[in-house]
Amino acid sequence: MTDAVLEPTKPVFRRLTLIGIGLIGSSIARGARAKGLAEEIVISTRREETLERACALGLGDRYCLDPAEAVAGADCVIVSVPVGASGAVAAAIADHLAPHAIVSDVGSVKADVVRQMAPHLPAHARFVPAHPVAGTEHSGPDAGFAELFENKWCIVTPPEGAETEAVETLVAFWRGLGSKVETMSPEHHDMVLAITSHIPHLIAYNIVGTAADLEKVSESEVIKFSAGGFRDFTRIAASDPTMWRDVFLHNREAVLEMLGRFIEDLFVLQRAVRFGDGEKLFEHFTRTRAIRRGILDLGQDTTAPDFGRVPKKD
Ligand code: NAP
Repeated sequence: MTDAVLEPTKPVFRRLTLIGIGLIGSSIARGARAKGLAEEIVISTRREETLERACALGLGDRYCLDPAEAVAGADCVIVSVPVGASGAVAAAIADHLAPHAIVSDVGSVKADVVRQMAPHLPAHARFVPAHPVAGTEHSGPDAGFAELFENKWCIVTPPEGAETEAVETLVAFWRGLGSKVETMSPEHHDMVLAITSHIPHLIAYNIVGTAADLEKVSESEVIKFSAGGFRDFTRIAASDPTMWRDVFLHNREAVLEMLGRFIEDLFVLQRAVRFGDGEKLFEHFTRTRAIRRGILDLGQDTTAPDFGRVPKKD
């Protein structure tokens, strides 16, 4: 199901509870406030200092350290914590959810999050997991911004038998935040994201690590000449270590399958370089250039040179 961006005309939720108020949670809070998508926003997070920061930033209307207290009376609860913590959060809130509350999350992995959360949730809760495919390398409540989801995809992964009305309500909420929404199974989501997001992050973490360990090229040379391609990997490799550790621990099968394919293809390129097979390299690079054009055509990146980076003025 693919839809255009629609602006809701009235709040989608009366009380929206956000558990976890980092980059994603705080962007939801800011976006929901800016677009009037919830009459009341209740915020809960693990540490007192993060909750105080959320309060100082004015991200919600009420703040609770206790997630059980935070979900009371909420018609929607969105969990935005590292995926490895999803099960524990579900266990903590399960007995305190309002009848017919929609429970959702934003985790970058879906099948494992469903496995972790679903067994804890009561039959009356309407569980509709989702994943906004939007982010930055920054973390915490200060990192979020209301426009993060605008014109970006949000993938909704309803478990089998999910109530249509609950799915439609959550879809309306994400459209209200400016997202384009697509629905698929959790397992398919994990395969797609393994190749489009998880493997690219693994490659970035790897190449930055390799460069840091080189003996023949100094660290200052790596930094000085980073615009030759390396710099864009360093941005990705600066992403939150906890979040990404959890992604690889909880999407292991799909990542290993895609990594196997990636390594096979890398050997083909290695062979072409070794044997000076220019035709193979040219054909490959021409094909990949077309993928970039497709991304630009869909408005998922900028055509500005240097990815739209503004040159520094001296
Ligand atoms: P973040 O900025 O680091 O914020 C994490 C939030 O989770 C904080 O409120 C933190 O609370 C809480 N938290 C951390 N560990 C916890 C634990 N063990 N138990 C309970 N709460 C815990 O992270 P984020 O970037 O918003 O990511 C949140 C989720 O969004 C992840 O599942 C990630 O996969 C998904 N996601 C991220 C991106 C991205 O680009 N970053 C994009 C799409 C989806 P305290 O500060 O109080 O400890």
